[in-house]
Amino acid sequence: MRRAIALARRGEGRTRPNPPVGAVVVRGDSKLGEGFHRRAGDAHAEVVALEACRGQARGATLYVTLEPCCTHGRTPPCTDRILHEGLARVVVGCRDENGCHCGRGLEVLSKRGVEVVYGVCEEEARDLTRPFFKHVTTGLPYVTVKLAMTLDGRIADREHRAKWITGAAARAEVQRLRRRADVMLVGAGTVCADDPSLLCRLRGAGGADGLVRDTKESGASPAGVRSVPQAGLLRVVVDASGRTPAHAQVYTDAAAARTVVATTQVGAARKAAAWALHGAQVWTLGAADDGRVPLELLLKRLGAAGYLHVLCEGGGHLAGALQDAGLVDAYELFYAPALLGDSRAVGALEGRGTLLADVRRWRCVDVKRFGEDVRIRVRKA
Ligand SMILES: [Zn+2]
Repeated sequence: MRRAIALARRGEGRTRPNPPVGAVVVRGDSKLGEGFHRRAGDAHAEVVALEACRGQARGATLYVTLEPCCTHGRTPPCTDRILHEGLARVVVGCRDENGCHCGRGLEVLSKRGVEVVYGVCEEEARDLTRPFFKHVTTGLPYVTVKLAMTLDGRIADREHRAKWITGAAARAEVQRLRRRADVMLVGAGTVCADDPSLLCRLRGAGGADGLVRDTKESGASPAGVRSVPQAGLLRVVVDASGRTPAHAQVYTDAAAARTVVATTQVGAARKAAAWALHGAQVWTLGAADDGRVPLELLLKRLGAAGYLHVLCEGGGHLAGALQDAGLVDAYELFYAPALLGDSRAVGALEGRGTLLADVRRWRCVDVKRFGEDVRIRVRKA
């Protein structure tokens, strides 16, 4: 199951609106086949693993991170294929909480004499599918907020400089985090201060610049090679008043067409045409009374477009607004062993906030060191 989970991780951030799933077929001590779901419309993980067995899976055991589907989607039900191949045993990480499946796949298999084991490495398997489960049950994407800060909770100094608060190991972990999401969300202040590219710089996610050279779409001419961001990745900038410059990287680089500016009528009137010059999309989400972009509406729109997992990388005002609105599902908080001790420095969450009497308690799921830095991961209980 651990191998199946590792395989599933390779599909994370690319399978929307489907969940990432991994599968391994085993007989005795030998592995017959393995696979993972690459993208919507492609074969499910179980089928990829069974194809690799070349008809030799009779009597074998299938390990799969998520309950196999038993209904016709864009591909035929995996339970049919499992029965056809004559597997003796199916070991499942977690059940499919999607209303139309929910245990039915397991029932179909056990009724036909397949031994079904359920709940192996369940926490890790469920972790993989959390964004998918939230999306199918609420229509909204899962929201993770990542913040890198000093021990006194500051994400930038009083001159709004935020670069290199944490060390190389923590920054590498952030790259892995980006790979798992399908939307990168930042506030206008972050774009103005840092001009980030928000692309994933992991090997395997694209070139050194985080872009995947897509030769298929460009035809035979090497001069016409187009660059696109890692499959499925969308960058979203929340800019209510139109203060992010049109020459920012996210609006002008080769992946500009996969950038969305979420703004109000005020911001759109000021900048829409300039932002869209290289293909960025402008979403005018009404004119909120307080001059802010209605974040729940933005998430609904992303959910409706099939996006599963939003990673917000600040700044403090956007993170604070998400927190105030109760829209955050998980936090990844990186602490560097440094203190600014400056009341003018930028806080991690610059929101309206709450009194201690009303404070929400989160569930601490992990504490880990990255070099000199510490990451605390919490999520809604
Ligand atoms: Zn399936």
